[in-house]
Amino acid sequence: MLKKIIGKAQEGKALTREDCLFLLEIEEHSYESGVLRGAASAIRREKTDNSAILLGQIGVESSPCPGGCRFCAFGEDHTSFKKYRMPDAELENKIDAFCAAGDLYGLYLMAMHDYSRDFYLETVHKARNRAPKTTQIWANIGDTDKEMFAELRKAGVSGVYHVCRLREGADTKLDPEKRKQTMRNVLDAGLKLYTCVEPIGPEHGNEELVENMFIGIDLGVFQHAAMRRIAVPGSPLYAYGQISELRLAHITAVIALASAASPSLSYMGAHEPGAICFSSGAEAMTAESGVNPRDTKIDTSVNRGMDTGRCRKMLYDCGFAYLRRGDESKIPLDFACLENTNSL
Ligand code: SF4
Repeated sequence: MLKKIIGKAQEGKALTREDCLFLLEIEEHSYESGVLRGAASAIRREKTDNSAILLGQIGVESSPCPGGCRFCAFGEDHTSFKKYRMPDAELENKIDAFCAAGDLYGLYLMAMHDYSRDFYLETVHKARNRAPKTTQIWANIGDTDKEMFAELRKAGVSGVYHVCRLREGADTKLDPEKRKQTMRNVLDAGLKLYTCVEPIGPEHGNEELVENMFIGIDLGVFQHAAMRRIAVPGSPLYAYGQISELRLAHITAVIALASAASPSLSYMGAHEPGAICFSSGAEAMTAESGVNPRDTKIDTSVNRGMDTGRCRKMLYDCGFAYLRRGDESKIPLDFACLENTNSL
């Protein structure tokens, strides 16, 4: 059965929900898991000519968030964060740091569920004017209508990260239907959509994972991904703990195989960066700075967030031969690249 399902993915045929459930039921420490993770990696690398992409995310503001997500450092009922907005000079420094080597594919600007449209548009303008043209600007914001996405597109945004989370509406105060409508609004505004199965914890069953992964596959996303929930101290779901990176890599590989027939899918991600995932079908890696829902520090770059140098080095160690810029041009990811970018 495993061979048959992998064969379908290799031939570019769509996997069914039953196929994905079968794959997820395999133990991640088994020989069969090694085979499926290897197959996912080979399929993805063949599609991308063994290229990876490097993304940067800047959390530009935070506040006790009405999203109330029980896993997030900003949930209004348990957060200790106060209202914060990144000063201009700091934003500029962070953009410059992310873009210094000229190899950043995309830069995310992250705000809370409720955000000021004027402030966010202004931030986008600043980022678009400062980042090189070969770096795309991506939005990571709360539920938004098509008109605002059209404004963001005019301001230079190329795509949007948006998810309908696992147990949305139960572990969050947000409406899963509104989350999905926002994803459709992104596409209707002519923007690319990046989604993710997240935040995966030990309590999530395989059926839930399958249903969630098909939201993105059925919508036709540009990037799909998997992210494990980080047990944030003080958050209500902390007590559940975390899944292992190996389990996350197994899930990443299943999503990559399930997406093999998708004509829209260009890149596959995994969060946070980890070498097992990036040897199992993921190639889109995100460095992080500023506020971060998985961190208790106001600037994640001094704690959880990895910088571009460490990401570049990890991608090299995972055997990728190229980095792609946001215009899809390729840069060799070799030892000289690591030396020149202080990534060793
Ligand atoms: S995950 Fe996002 S929407 Fe949920 S509480 Fe955190 S910032 Fe708000």
